[in-house]
Amino acid sequence: MVHQTQIFCYSAARQIAGITQRRMKAELRKQVYYKYDGHCAYCGKEIQYREMQVDHLHPQALSHFKATGRDINGNLIMPDPDRFENLMPSCRRCNHYKRAHTIEQFRDNMRTIQKRLMKIYIFKVAVDYGIVEVKPFSGTFYFEHKEG
Ligand SMILES: [Zn+2]
Repeated sequence: MVHQTQIFCYSAARQIAGITQRRMKAELRKQVYYKYDGHCAYCGKEIQYREMQVDHLHPQALSHFKATGRDINGNLIMPDPDRFENLMPSCRRCNHYKRAHTIEQFRDNMRTIQKRLMKIYIFKVAVDYGIVEVKPFSGTFYFEHKEG
């Protein structure tokens, strides 16, 4: 059963997604690039400015869950998903892999990556031969190291 509030949320999410798809100002994009000195906020590798993708730390599609209150007409007040603190410089791979997940969902995916890799036969062969070395995910992303 779909409730009235769910319908509102889906509708609001679509509306927000439409609004946030507008082209980001060049100056803001530059600020995002330098946020972690030209490194991907997640894996930490250096990225070229032209290759940087701007990820929303808290996914745009979930913005309606972060409502800060209601206005005088009872409409939800949403924080701007394009606010600087929500924008993260990202390499293509991390942005693609994180997709519309929250940082905690992304962290959970990273924690199980080792186990999932070990299901791949050729990967196990590579481990046996010392071609690849498997290390556990540290549990933290690059930007979390940077922020202490
Ligand atoms: Zn990355």
